[in-house]
Amino acid sequence: TPAGGVRTLDDLPIREELRGQSPYGAPQLDVPVRLNTNENPYPLPPELVARIAERVAAAARDLNRYPDRDAVELRTALAAYLGRTCGLSIGAEGVWAANGSNEVLQQLLQAFGGPGRTALGFEPSYSMHALIARGTGTGWLSGPRDAEDFTIDPSAAERAIAEHRPHVVFVCSPNNPTGTAVAAETVLALHDAAQRARSGPGEHGALVIVDEAYGEFSHRPSLLPLIEGRPRLVISRTMSKAFGAAGLRLGYLAAHPAVVDAVQLVRLPYHLSAVTQATALAALEHTDTLLGYVEQLKAERDRLVAELRAIGCEVTDSDANFVQFGRFDGPGGAHAAWRFLLEQGVLVRDNGVPGRLRVTTGTPEENDAFLDAVRELMKEND
Ligand code: PMP
Repeated sequence: TPAGGVRTLDDLPIREELRGQSPYGAPQLDVPVRLNTNENPYPLPPELVARIAERVAAAARDLNRYPDRDAVELRTALAAYLGRTCGLSIGAEGVWAANGSNEVLQQLLQAFGGPGRTALGFEPSYSMHALIARGTGTGWLSGPRDAEDFTIDPSAAERAIAEHRPHVVFVCSPNNPTGTAVAAETVLALHDAAQRARSGPGEHGALVIVDEAYGEFSHRPSLLPLIEGRPRLVISRTMSKAFGAAGLRLGYLAAHPAVVDAVQLVRLPYHLSAVTQATALAALEHTDTLLGYVEQLKAERDRLVAELRAIGCEVTDSDANFVQFGRFDGPGGAHAAWRFLLEQGVLVRDNGVPGRLRVTTGTPEENDAFLDAVRELMKEND
């Protein structure tokens, strides 16, 4: 037998709940038009690239030292950005940053979930919520979403919360992979239901995490102002999408300062490198340019929705930088349609939602290539 009799990870003393599982990840295929991971198609502008080089060079001179452990300058700049764009003024003490919002979410579950506790999300939604729950030993509960328009029905959701009494509730708005925004009233209803369900003796309520990774692309204002007076409501965001900086790995949250104190109990010391902090600060200096690209992408997103509908697709209303479309209920289902588009050189995402696929908004040229491929697909399916 090979070394020590270990053929696969299942021969190792791995945690039982990880045995037989696969890691998260979309196929990374080398095709002309890649619209499968909700990235921003626009490279950073040259002025910003130059500014990053400058700030990183300054940081490099001090790389013999650990970085600012509390990332105070960065959290202050993020707080200013949120204050300017989301209608609520907050300070650095109400903002926390980590390596992508995935790490923010993981820190939240390390602090508020864990063994013996549960988290609930309304599915289909961002599959990493369930995977981060698994990785942190948090039990996962699937809550309901309307099967036709993918909205969250407040009374069905409240019933699920009352029945399961989760310690953590995820609300993804705009939701990945459907693009659906959640109304502020619905978030408030879920928040209140979650607090009621955990208001017994010795209980301290439930944490409600609003994942606003795609917040800047929404037709609706940010849900950020809802955190005022609600210390158990957290808004999670990222620079991966609107800032076009997925490679930077910078996510953040806004919440009551006590939540920020809580995640500090589980964060690794110096988790945000000096290079990351310098790069993110440079990007925040160029917010207006980057938000200009967001406006272009929103217009292209709306064009994709309109043109897909004109072609005869069923399209879910989208507030994100991607669009869910279908339906592909014929032989092979959505996966056969995914493969057909791939053969035309266009990579979209099959998220496992029956009969539906998800396309990320690209440049106008990429979107045209995608729409041409869908026209071919619809001819084929006729
Ligand atoms: N939340 C949602 C809903 C997402 O779709 C993603 C990325 N696909 C993330 C969080 C994580 O993004 P990042 O870690 O790059 O901030």
